[in-house]
Amino acid sequence: MLRVLDIHTYYGNIQALKGVTIEVAEGEIITLIGANGAGKTTTLMSISAVVPPRSGEILFKGKPITKLSPEKIVGMGISQAPEGRRIFPGLTVLENLDMGAFLRKDKAGIKEDLDYVLDLFPILAERQGQAGGTLSGGEQQMLAISRALMARPQLLLLDEPSLGLAPIIVQRIFDIIRKINSEHGTTIFLVEQNANLALQVSHRGYVMENGVITMQDTAANLAANEEIKKAYLGI
Ligand code: ATP
Repeated sequence: MLRVLDIHTYYGNIQALKGVTIEVAEGEIITLIGANGAGKTTTLMSISAVVPPRSGEILFKGKPITKLSPEKIVGMGISQAPEGRRIFPGLTVLENLDMGAFLRKDKAGIKEDLDYVLDLFPILAERQGQAGGTLSGGEQQMLAISRALMARPQLLLLDEPSLGLAPIIVQRIFDIIRKINSEHGTTIFLVEQNANLALQVSHRGYVMENGVITMQDTAANLAANEEIKKAYLGI
């Protein structure tokens, strides 16, 4: 579904990605794990064209997307729930969800997806008239994921869904990530510092260090790898 081929991405003179290659098959959950500053967020930003790569190629369902605008990429079926729960704080929960569907015209489908996300996260249904900025951290994360789902993506990019959340909420969010994949068939590219949980829900994983992929394997093999255990799993 997605082929990221030897991409190099810069912020001015700073090179954040130094030849990254990642492939994601339809129906997979893959995770990218790595320390702070490794380049995980930059990888997602390169895919969604917010920070386009300077060289290399990205293919989505066989078509090059490297030169497209972020809007076009959303329209093709890739949507991102950003790190730091960047929802619209002054808009209500429902208005935030509407924004996620702004490129769509299929009213019936939008209604169907709204029911779907409110069913996934019943707390959002209870809070639908409340301003996004007044939600708790966990609720804002749920809203960010739901807003991304409102674009009805084939590929969902999730950046650090566990960041700053209480363990019980993190567990709930990961259960739902698994559910979105298994029941809705959405392919998921997950960036996480909580490598333990990320590897539990993923099929395969990549490890990134200083802008380079240093390892890739099935999630089970990575979770059992002694180096990974020491460096990322705190075991
Ligand atoms: P974290 O887990 O801490 O979010 P990360 O793996 O997602 O880290 P990135 O945010 O992709 O890492 O950052 C990769 C590198 O690019 C870092 O060295 C960072 O300082 C640099 N970087 C990121 N954003 C910018 C920016 N807007 N301007 C300049 N440098 C940046």
